[in-house]
Amino acid sequence: MSPRRFLVTGGAGYVGSHLVAALLARGDAVVVFDNLRQGHRAAVLPGAALIEGDLADAGAIEAALATGPWDGVFHFAALSLVGDSMAQPFRYLAENGGNGLRLIEACVRHGVPRFVLSSTANLFGAPAVIPIGEDAPVDPGSPYGESKHMLERALVWAERIHGMRYAALRYFNAAGADPDGRLGEDHRPETHLIPLAIDAALGRRAELTVFGTDYPTADGTCVRDYVHVTDLAEAHLHALARLDAGSVTYNLGNGAGHSVRAVIDTVGAVAGRPVPVRFGARRAGDPPVLVAASARILRETGWQPRFADLRRIIETAYAWRLAHPEGYGAA
Ligand code: UDP
Repeated sequence: MSPRRFLVTGGAGYVGSHLVAALLARGDAVVVFDNLRQGHRAAVLPGAALIEGDLADAGAIEAALATGPWDGVFHFAALSLVGDSMAQPFRYLAENGGNGLRLIEACVRHGVPRFVLSSTANLFGAPAVIPIGEDAPVDPGSPYGESKHMLERALVWAERIHGMRYAALRYFNAAGADPDGRLGEDHRPETHLIPLAIDAALGRRAELTVFGTDYPTADGTCVRDYVHVTDLAEAHLHALARLDAGSVTYNLGNGAGHSVRAVIDTVGAVAGRPVPVRFGARRAGDPPVLVAASARILRETGWQPRFADLRRIIETAYAWRLAHPEGYGAA
């Protein structure tokens, strides 16, 4: 039997590259489609093919899809920063929404049977109930979240009208690095809490700014559900297999909330030196508490997170940063 074949947009990015690793590990054929603006050539593992292309270029995505047949498409490529989307709302709606819609339409036209969307916990801007289940009311916290909601809705129609099965996977806070040390987190500029705290502990930056200490939480800082990027990658494979029984929507986290202060303390413990911090104002678009109820994916698939412990997650991120102080380098 020939191997299964998948197209992965954004497969040179943080979560996408870890998914590519998981696909390659089980013998699937993988084509990455990435403009390498946020992704890194060095994050595409040997064994995967790379098409350097932009989703805004309809001809490029058309040419890529024309090399099918495909067993499925994973769609990661997107602008992904909550705070940035509050500053550039229409860019996020137009690029993430427009490019994503064009991709979905092209997948339907090419008969792609399965589509897996990177979605987000930011769909839930003001959740009334914590932990957040899949049926919680959607009320995006930012234009970024709204753009993902647009694509989730488009997939509903792609299935109803054209029968394309989909998985909408709402990530809570992706964190950590490939336990084998091949891949890690390298955003430029970096805006995420754990890599910034690690760099502050290592003296690679002067300090970490805590965004808000007056939230209605136990210690006044935001609470998030950190999920290991390799566990997220595995969740994609489980969700994909489940599509034979119908489309799925899953909230992906560990069901445990950690405050910004708790993350900083854990980074300090792992690094063996404290994280220098400054206390600053809230960042626009940040809800106080986001914790997933992931019971549905646990119940419906065989997904079992291997790195649920925050300290384990941070240890893998720290190990990668120590080995790769410049991330993927100049690539
Ligand atoms: N955060 C912070 N300082 C930073 C970066 C992030 O206090 O320099 C906080 C942020 O307000 C949020 C949490 O850390 O409550 C996680 O933010 P991150 O950007 O890592 O992920 P997001 O929740 O935006 O997906």
